[in-house]
Amino acid sequence: MDDKYQYVDTLAKLSAAIADLHTESPPEAVLPSDLSLEHARANLLRHLPAAGRGIEKVIKHLREDIAPGFNASSRSSNYFGFVTGGITPAASLADNLVTAYDQNVQVHLPKETIATEVEDRTLSLLCELLKLEPAQWPHRTFTTGATASNVLGLACGREHIITEAAAARGDTTTSVGEIGIFEAMHRAGLDKIQILTTVPHSSLSKAASLIGMGRASVKLIGVGGSSHKFDIPRLKKFLEAPGTASIVAISAAEVNTGLFATSGLHEMEEIRKLCDMYGAWIHVDGAFGIMGRALTSGPYDKIIRCCEGLDLADSITGDGHKLLNVPYDCGFFLSRHREIASRVFRNPNAAYLSTGVDADTILSPLNVGIENSRRLRALPVYASLVAYGSEGYRDMLERQITLSRGIAQFVLDSEEFELLPTFSGDNEEILGNIYIVVLFRAKDQGLNKELVDRIKATRRIYVSGTAWDGRPACRFAVSNWMANVARDLPIIKQVLGEVVAGWKAGNGA
Ligand SMILES: *Cc1c(COP(=O)(O)O)cnc(C)c1O
Repeated sequence: MDDKYQYVDTLAKLSAAIADLHTESPPEAVLPSDLSLEHARANLLRHLPAAGRGIEKVIKHLREDIAPGFNASSRSSNYFGFVTGGITPAASLADNLVTAYDQNVQVHLPKETIATEVEDRTLSLLCELLKLEPAQWPHRTFTTGATASNVLGLACGREHIITEAAAARGDTTTSVGEIGIFEAMHRAGLDKIQILTTVPHSSLSKAASLIGMGRASVKLIGVGGSSHKFDIPRLKKFLEAPGTASIVAISAAEVNTGLFATSGLHEMEEIRKLCDMYGAWIHVDGAFGIMGRALTSGPYDKIIRCCEGLDLADSITGDGHKLLNVPYDCGFFLSRHREIASRVFRNPNAAYLSTGVDADTILSPLNVGIENSRRLRALPVYASLVAYGSEGYRDMLERQITLSRGIAQFVLDSEEFELLPTFSGDNEEILGNIYIVVLFRAKDQGLNKELVDRIKATRRIYVSGTAWDGRPACRFAVSNWMANVARDLPIIKQVLGEVVAGWKAGNGA
């Protein structure tokens, strides 16, 4: 067979295999059985075969040997382990198209491909979903996820705060991107750069390490007893430290509790004012929290208020593969500072990579983010936004919040469990703070130690363990577009009830 036909024939086989997979109903169990894991492990090839086995054997091998060893995290709405998200059908289709067309998103070449325009338009639609004015976020790009977006945020912040400090001494040419962090700090008269935050995601410290600021530069300045909230007088003290430049990182929201670091426009305005006074950069880590801006009203007022003023930031991290429910390898980054993008990410002296630089042209993705060549990450987001619209996304999020609040209500009503952190206020107030994460523990310390494992052992729902106040705690993270309160909540209640009953029976209570 001629190569071209062989390729088409192979693709037809692949399409059939993919179609098969999509019509298969998701597994009941959220985790593979020990047997399936063993089977997959035993069949994983140990050595590279000299002669290829061909596509048909590969399809069979992947489906029958390897895939049974996967968990059902994205395909099951009963997976609450981490904020993972699922995949909407539109995003799934588009992701397959991205592979089939294999467009390189690197340089903006409007006469050669629409790819960069698809990305830019998608980011603009995303801004609309999040009630952000697209024109105010001219440095925008897709990343591999929120961790990479945090790297971008800190790298841009670092460039900004050091050049501002240098400019204050009359030196307007210093750029970290050009001369490096040590010399730039020296010229700017700085001994220290710091990241001021509350309840940061672990990836913020990793990003700090990666860009040469160091994990120790991340400083927690939360209020005692309410560690997610900024202690504003302390923030001011840290900001005014001599010889020091700062990035303020706002956790919107935090992964353990789902709580937002700020609770309204006024607080954000206050932080903005302080940061302007001291030349600091504001970065919002809104990996999953930024989606709260898609809500409009109703029982979500508290969340809506927590998302107010986040648009006063210099840069924002968002995740695609979480609440946007597109496949992995998708985050996004928004910044107000177009000129900083090029100072940090520009590929120097590569004439063949350059395009026009006038103010309205789309910036070439390779000059505004980490990668040079990469896949068309925008297409699944584009497809899903087109398929569901702002109302569809709002509906998904509302179902996820309602399910989370249903779980929280069950915990509040139960004799066996307690909701964390322990809030004062009536139930309605407490539930109003619940976004998509429910943290709780068993009151019985013995059960509490085993709680997560016992829930996982049912293989019907999956939760993750964490620590709160030095003791184990259990966390539900709801992030799947399929969330269905009427179907999912009874299963959750039943599993929790059975776990308690099993513990009591085992302990002769
Ligand atoms: C998940 C998460 C991250 C890391 O995101 P990845 O997509 O896993 O890189 C960062 N910050 C917050 C708040 C998160 O929830």
